[in-house]
Formats: sequence, structure tokens, C-alpha cells
Amino acid sequence: GDLVLDARDLHKTFATGRSGLRKSRVSAVDGVSLRLHAGESLGIVGESGCGKSTLARMLVGLERPDSGSIEIHGRDVTRVRGRDRRLLRRQVQMVFQDPYTSLDPRMSVLELIGEPLTVHKRVTGKTALTDRVAELLGLVNLAPELMHRYPHQFSGGQRQRIGIARALALDPEVLVCDEPVSALDMSVQAQVVNLLRDLQKRMNIALLFIAHDLSVVRHVSDRTAVMYLGRLAEVGDTPTVYDQPAHPYTQALLSAAPVVDRSRRRLADRIMLLGDPPSPADPPTGCRFHTRCRFARDRCAAEQPVARRLEDASDRTVACHFAEEAQATAPAVG
Ligand code: SF4
Ligand code: MG
Repeated sequence: GDLVLDARDLHKTFATGRSGLRKSRVSAVDGVSLRLHAGESLGIVGESGCGKSTLARMLVGLERPDSGSIEIHGRDVTRVRGRDRRLLRRQVQMVFQDPYTSLDPRMSVLELIGEPLTVHKRVTGKTALTDRVAELLGLVNLAPELMHRYPHQFSGGQRQRIGIARALALDPEVLVCDEPVSALDMSVQAQVVNLLRDLQKRMNIALLFIAHDLSVVRHVSDRTAVMYLGRLAEVGDTPTVYDQPAHPYTQALLSAAPVVDRSRRRLADRIMLLGDPPSPADPPTGCRFHTRCRFARDRCAAEQPVARRLEDASDRTVACHFAEEAQATAPAVG
């Protein structure tokens, strides 16, 4: 498909208050680039605090990057203003993590889903509005009669469907979903994931799916990006990343994922992550993973690894000085 979203070298830091005379800053996103094509799904995985939500919020315009560019169809939204900016911005919509807090409890479903339509003047007249809202509810498999109800009258899974319908109201080309099922019961997670996957295919939407749960991302994404402390460790086709992980962090994440079978459990014990995650307010020098990496040596603390392609047939990039060695010695974890 066409290249829809092209984010390059995004950086974002936040002030976290003062310690003594020094203002401390957290480096939330540090040089992330990613591309999304029409109809494609990209999963982003990483532990909490790795910057995935900040990345998502920059992509949808809720947060301004300190530097870097975000092009939508070749136009940099961080540079355009006014009407052009609004037109570009509505191409990228967000589905939020928590359907219990992201919907205003005082608004009916009709008002919630109708709001973006009225704000952007996409429909005129009450009949056109209710018709369109009914159509959007149909897309997420909810009956049109439900539009007169309020959020508290719905289950978590239904609320997330309403959030998705609202995000679809302006016909976006990209849907950014920030942990869209992690607040839901296990039993409804799969339904919402399948709905998103189905909408992506039917409407040719590009899906950016953020999760800390590796198994969810594997099911939903064509490509997978693994994020660690504000940087991308590894990006590639989902089967490649899961079956032949080349970055030591990807290997550790996969081996730490819950497994049922006993031989795999033993394997998991072998390549667990070392130590606790460092603070993003004081990230390690060089490769930010070096304090927890079983392959780390002097060069890793001194020099930041650049994302590069391996000289194998796989379609992915890895930011590790010793990726070949890591890949060669990794036991199969898939
Ligand atoms: Fe580990 Fe060094 Fe590779 Fe970083 S660059 S992942 S510390 S081997
Ligand atoms: Mg988050």
C-alpha cells in the first residue's frame, strides 16, 4: 500500500520537577523513526515506561515532539498550521487504553460519536447525524438503538467499541491504539482485537497497535517493533521477530513471556532479563540496554548502536552492535 505515515527521528523529554537546583528531565522517546503503509498493521511492544504511549500521543498530535518530523502523505504535520493541519490530523485517530475514563459519562453515545462529525462539519442536520452514527455503530457490531444510552450502561468491551466507532467517525487512514484491550477482561480482549483486525482489513486502515503483551501483538500485527527505554531495539516482519529474534532484549522479552510447556519454561529461566529497568530520568550511556544485557561489553556502554539490517534474508532492522552473535547463540524461543 501507499506510505501514509512517516515519522522520523522523534524525540521527547519531560520535566519531572526539581531535585535541589537541578531540574531533572525524562527522556521518553529518543530518536524513533517508523513508517506505516495503507492497510498495514504495526505492533509496538515494550515494558511500561518505555515511551510507547508518548510515541502514540505524538503521532496523533496530543503531544508535540521536541524534534523530528511526522509526515502524513508527505506533508509534515509538525510544520503546517490552521486548516491544513486539522485536515491532516484527522487522518490519524486514537483509540485509548481505558474505555472507563476516555468517554465523557455525561454524553450519550449519539453525542460521543457525533461530536467529531459536528466539530468537523462532516454532516448537516439531525437525520444525517443519526444515520451516520447508526452506521458507525454497525461497523463495531452495536445496535443503532443504543445511541441514546450513556457510557455507564455498557460493559467495558462495549465501551471500547464505542471508542473505536468515535475514532472511525472521520474516516481516518490510521488508527493508533494504545493498549486498547489491557483494561478489559481476558474474555472480551480477543473480541476487540478481532474487531480491530477486521476493520483494518475491510476499510484498508493502517493500524498501530501498542501493547505490553507480546501474544496480543503477534496476533494483530504484520510487523512488530520492540521498544526499550525510548528507543526501538528491533523492527521487522512479525514472524521473523518472534521466531528469530536478533536483539538481546527481544530475546529476553520473548523468553519471559508466559509459557505453558515445561521445556520452554526451562529455556525462559536461561535468558531472563538481568536486574531492574533503569530510570528514564537517568538512562544508561551507549546502548540503553547494556545494564541488563547478557552480551554487553565495553563498546556497548560507550557507543549507541545504530539500527541496521542484518546480512541474512530477514526483513528487519536491529539496533545492537552484536546482533549476529546474539542471534546465532539464541535458542529458538518461538
Ligand atoms: Fe546488548 Fe551491546 Fe547489543 Fe546493547 S549493543 S543489546 S548492550 S550487545
Ligand atoms: Mg502506556
